[in-house]
Amino acid sequence: MAPAESVWPRIIAHADMDAFYAAIEQLDDPSLCGKPILVGLPSDRGVVLTASYEARPFGVGSAMSMAKARRMCPDAAIVRPRFDRYQEVSKMIMRVFSDFSPHVEAISLDEAFLDLTGCEQLLGEPRTIGKKLKESVREATGGLTISVGMSGTK
Ligand SMILES: [Mg+2]
Repeated sequence: MAPAESVWPRIIAHADMDAFYAAIEQLDDPSLCGKPILVGLPSDRGVVLTASYEARPFGVGSAMSMAKARRMCPDAAIVRPRFDRYQEVSKMIMRVFSDFSPHVEAISLDEAFLDLTGCEQLLGEPRTIGKKLKESVREATGGLTISVGMSGTK
């Protein structure tokens, strides 16, 4: 174990799904893969809930008005949100988190803190735990990716 990690008072993971709504839409409809998409209502008065990574280089992002986002990224597909499906995937990832730690603090549908203090014996050093978490989420969801940061504090 690296010295810096062995002196951590606690082991805290911050886990956050990548472009959650957009990634689910691409997972469920392969014709959207690799393309810029904006999840939100097609009305110009709506807002972008999530932009896929392919749309982000055009400068669009969450909470931007749909009208502005469409001007900046005219080729983007507009996809209506399916909250039931996002809830379902959220349950899958929260179940994975709870396999790693009994102390999961969900922040939103796709994001949580996990207190992994004391889990090294079982799961390995922090870097290894982070990798295992990413793999487990990918497996449980059929291919979605999550970013994981590990630290000694929140
Ligand atoms: Mg996220």
